[in-house]
Amino acid sequence: MKYLTSVSLTLFSLATTSLLISSEVNAQVLLTGKMEQGALIRGQVAAGSAAFLNGEELKVTPNGDFAFGFSRDAELNQELKLVYPDGLTQIKPLTILAKEYKIDRLTGISKKIMKPDPKAQARAAKDSKQVKAARALFSDKTAFSQTFIWPLTGRISGVYGSQRVYNGKPGNPHYGVDVAAKTGTVVVAPADGKISLSVPDMFYSGGTIILDHGYGVSSSFLHLSKLYVKEGQEIKQGEPIAEVGATGRVTGPHLDWRVNWYQMRLDPVTIVPSMASVLKQQKSQ
Ligand SMILES: [Zn+2]
Repeated sequence: MKYLTSVSLTLFSLATTSLLISSEVNAQVLLTGKMEQGALIRGQVAAGSAAFLNGEELKVTPNGDFAFGFSRDAELNQELKLVYPDGLTQIKPLTILAKEYKIDRLTGISKKIMKPDPKAQARAAKDSKQVKAARALFSDKTAFSQTFIWPLTGRISGVYGSQRVYNGKPGNPHYGVDVAAKTGTVVVAPADGKISLSVPDMFYSGGTIILDHGYGVSSSFLHLSKLYVKEGQEIKQGEPIAEVGATGRVTGPHLDWRVNWYQMRLDPVTIVPSMASVLKQQKSQ
């Protein structure tokens, strides 16, 4: 940023057309986030600019804010294109880091456990359809660009991206961050938003809430015991939304917090301070 400012100042004294000056001043994009697989990236450009990720147009707010994600196994070379209000185009190659995920291989699992019951399968398919519909929503809320907070603090008992392989057959990767806590512990909203789904008894995820932060960014909260909110309700950051539980298919009470960019599942830890630093700060207060 500093470098660009000094470049535009130099141009100010050399340039003869105002067009060139405005181009240089506006030709800046600020990206916030980790350049790694699983990260949510927030961008800022001059109002009226357009942004494209790998050729696909991204929706930009009237103020110039936008968001996108890098999936769990995202290509390491991607390209962001920006078209500034005066027509100047900037191509920004993005090189991202590969992440290593924890893989557990389990063998000798009985066929009975491997074979799901048809009734449960039907319920799970219905849940999945409902969750996908909520994540597909576009709303013009701009809460996605806020600084997020942890919805719950405590010991992290599960991480994003980990995967179990059962008898050689890979299961779905784990897409959330798990925070262990007693049933009844209050969960708060990590940023402002509107409740797009609130269901007390999904087959796998139990009590489930989805909070829409706008422009495709949403948070999901799983295994809740008590839901305080209804679909359509507007929520402020820090507001209590539910209580931790052990509902759905789990072994113990915890919160599973997920961050989505439309159907892409992202790692929530890429947008909040480290849990260790937050716990240390709480202790010193
Ligand atoms: Zn989990």
